[in-house]
Amino acid sequence: MSVDRSTIWPYRDGEPGEFYYQRYAHPTGVEAERRLGELDGGHALLFASGAGATTALALAFLAPGRTIALAAGAYFGTGVTFQELERWGLQVVEFDQTGPPPDGVDLVWLEAPSNPFLTMPDLEAATAHPARVVVDATVATPIHLRPLEHGADFVLHSATKYLAGHDDAQLGAVVCRREEDAVRLKDFRTRSGIVAAPDPCFLLLRGLKTLELRVRRQTESAAQLAQRLDKHPKVATVRYPGLGGLISFDVADEDAARRVETSLRLITNATSLGGVDSVLESRARWEGDRVPPGLLRLSIGLESPEALWQDLEQALEKA
Ligand code: PLP
Repeated sequence: MSVDRSTIWPYRDGEPGEFYYQRYAHPTGVEAERRLGELDGGHALLFASGAGATTALALAFLAPGRTIALAAGAYFGTGVTFQELERWGLQVVEFDQTGPPPDGVDLVWLEAPSNPFLTMPDLEAATAHPARVVVDATVATPIHLRPLEHGADFVLHSATKYLAGHDDAQLGAVVCRREEDAVRLKDFRTRSGIVAAPDPCFLLLRGLKTLELRVRRQTESAAQLAQRLDKHPKVATVRYPGLGGLISFDVADEDAARRVETSLRLITNATSLGGVDSVLESRARWEGDRVPPGLLRLSIGLESPEALWQDLEQALEKA
């Protein structure tokens, strides 16, 4: 389909049709949501970014005084978004997602696998908890994990990453297990205006056509590179959960990490993950002492694994 950038559509016989004003719905977004809904097995809604999707979920389903149990070591920005919302009366406690969530919380927020610590959540323990469960499956993608099939209530994606896949579209998604939750969330989205524009939705539709091919190749390459990094004398710890294209590993300290970053020739020294081009960055610049000082996060793209290894090897010589 081609992108329809209209913000209005004419009424027919004096009555609004399916599409009448872009903030409510537009054809490119609805089609992208249909495809993503199929992939995750639920009702998908798109937002202006992953952080926008996070904000919408928290504000639509919680109220002042409610508590979110957030997986420790989950995406740094999710904690920052929740800190912003604490001013409106939301509370956040962190817990180890490899075990059960704490009692008395109102929403459980998992990440599969967590970015950049790459732990996998105990989905069985989480879904046994009475609170609703959100799984941020940005890194796993529906190719490796469909959390709704494991009893989760919502899946969240930064669709900016693997789903769109080319580092040129900013989008978030929530896929709901229950239709009534999707209705509530869609109302919140329309009223708050945290909507996805047609152009990024078009790029998402195109990205989804190659999602499986890209993710399978990225996973194969990541598994190979994780093994090779593990044997490298300059590398202390390698984190790789056996799925997806994201790896993190530690060199001696922040200075060594900086030397690796600035010695790369093929891999781009930039933030983000999930695109067709490999990127690497030291996370301490953003996350401070929450991460080991020499932690490097590597998102594997579609380059040949041999060429990627050569680049890593020559950059690690400087570590
Ligand atoms: N969730 C995860 C796991 C992420 O890695 C990110 C971004 O890095 C987000 C959510 C936020 O998404 P966005 O940057 O599209 O707002």
